[in-house]
Amino acid sequence: MYPNPFEYHRAGSVEEAISLLQELGEDAKLIAGGHSLLPTMKLRLANPAHLIDITGIAGLDHVTDKGDYIEIGALTRHVTLLKDPIIAAKAPLLALIANEVGDRQIRARGTIGGVVAHADPAADYPAGLVALEAEVVTLGPGGETVTPIDDFLISIYTTTLGPDEVVTAVRVPVQPEGTGVAYEKLANQASGYAIIGVAAVVSPGAVKIGLTGLSDRAFRAREAEMSLAGATLDLASIKAATRGITAGVEVYGDIHASEAYRRRVADGLAARAVAKAAGLS
Ligand SMILES: Cc1cc2nc3c(=O)[nH]c(=O)nc-3n(C[C@H](O)[C@H](O)[C@H](O)COP(=O)(O)OP(=O)(O)OC[C@H]3O[C@@H](n4cnc5c(N)ncnc54)[C@H](O)[C@@H]3O)c2cc1C
Repeated sequence: MYPNPFEYHRAGSVEEAISLLQELGEDAKLIAGGHSLLPTMKLRLANPAHLIDITGIAGLDHVTDKGDYIEIGALTRHVTLLKDPIIAAKAPLLALIANEVGDRQIRARGTIGGVVAHADPAADYPAGLVALEAEVVTLGPGGETVTPIDDFLISIYTTTLGPDEVVTAVRVPVQPEGTGVAYEKLANQASGYAIIGVAAVVSPGAVKIGLTGLSDRAFRAREAEMSLAGATLDLASIKAATRGITAGVEVYGDIHASEAYRRRVADGLAARAVAKAAGLS
């Protein structure tokens, strides 16, 4: 199906994008890679009268080592995260996840800013971003805001992003020496999206686990993390800690997987991800 007609605008700067958003109001949408927005427009689930293309804005496509954290510009594409040497050295979990996103075409067009702004509950990155305790940088009429990803993601397709704000970057803290990471996924065979995705970050004395695809937003498995923190990690302790990892979380079922199936597979994928990140498999 073709999308409804819309007017195309091209912003030359973040400030211009913000003023276009203010001027055109709720009928306007930013477009970056277009690989989430255009399919919803073709299905007529979204019908913006104005599209503001931000892909020509200079300075939003970068991966920068800031010492304690890596800053990833909002227009950075999945393929860049897959190949960038700074990501490989200091945030390798994101390269593992980028490798799992869609196909080549999607990875060549989709952006990290689009991922966080869209807040698709089946997207891959949010599992890693919550486990890494990333922050989202936004710019709006009131200035710059830096929000922990856990607060930024509210629910399905819903974030704290204001109607006239632009995501400019994602910041990922550099993990301590000796940290291992892993991403395990049960993929939807048609789209590649995560039916279940589990990211694990195992540092000396700490374990962080992020899950996606199960609920209305990506979340941390805090109880399992606490029981593994400081423990001697072996397959038995990991399996025990990750059993019932979705307890207390409202897990949905759909045509791809029932609620019970999702809960059960999440346990297994979480155990596998933590064991891999701990170097046990
Ligand atoms: C066939 C197919 C398979 C896919 N498979 C996967 C998969 O396996 N895993 C996965 O995680 N994803 C998958 N995706 C989604 C893909 O990763 C998208 O590229 C990504 O989710 C959105 O990035 P985008 O740049 O394309 O965003 P767009 O589609 O351009 O925008 C998405 C939304 O974010 C807003 N937006 C975009 N950039 C900004 C910004 N800087 N500031 C504020 N708002 C902004 C837009 O207004 C829009 O509402 C798939 C997509 C397709 C079409």
